[in-house]
Amino acid sequence: MNIIIFGPPGAGKGTQAKFLVNKYNSFQISTGDILREEIKKDSEIGKKIINNMNDGKFVDDEIVNKLLEKIVFDKNKKNKLIFDGYPRTIDQAKNLEKLLEKSDQNIDYIFFLNVNKDSIIRRIEKRKILEKRSDDDSEIILKRYDTYMVVTKPVLDYYSKNKKFHEIDGSMEINDISSKIEEILRV
Ligand code: AMP
Repeated sequence: MNIIIFGPPGAGKGTQAKFLVNKYNSFQISTGDILREEIKKDSEIGKKIINNMNDGKFVDDEIVNKLLEKIVFDKNKKNKLIFDGYPRTIDQAKNLEKLLEKSDQNIDYIFFLNVNKDSIIRRIEKRKILEKRSDDDSEIILKRYDTYMVVTKPVLDYYSKNKKFHEIDGSMEINDISSKIEEILRV
C-alpha cells in the first residue's frame, strides 16, 4: 500500500505519516527531512538548497525528483511508501507516477488534510518553539503558504479528481484525524 499525505505546511502531514509508519510497518518519505539532512551533512546538494529552504521557497524539482528515485526503487520499501511533502508540484506528481509505474507500484490512497491559513500559522508558531526549524519564522511561514497556494494547489486540483482521493478536516485533533484515516483504510 502506497499513500500520499497531502496538505499545506503545518497541516500535520508528518504526524499522520508517522502514525501510518508505526501501524503498517511502512516507510515515511519526508522530502523535507531528506533535504534538511543534506544541509546537515553539508553535501553538494545541501549547499545548493540551503538558501531556498531557509527562504521558504521550493527546492528545484530536478533535485527532489532525483533524491526520490532511489527510495521508490528500493525493494525493501516497495508498496510500503508513505509520502509526506511530495509531490508538491505538477512536475513532481507526474514524476512520481512515472517512477511508480516503472517499479510496478501504484498510489493506493491520497489523503488531503485541509486546514485554513489562520490555524496553520498558529500551529507553525507552536512548532517553531518545539522543533526550532529555521523556516518556521513568522515571515517565512507566510511565504511558504503563498508558495503552496500558487505551486501546490494545482496538484490538489489534479488529485481531487482521482478516485483514491480523500479529503479530511485537518483542524481536528491528531487522534481524530488518525481514526478517520484508519476508517477509510479499513473500507
Ligand atoms: P517540509 O518539511 O515538508 O515542510 O519542507 C520544508 C521545506 O523543504 C519546504 O519549504 C521546501 O523548501 C523544501 N521541500 C520539501 N519537500 C519539497 C518538495 N517536494 N519539493 C520542493 N521543495 C521541497
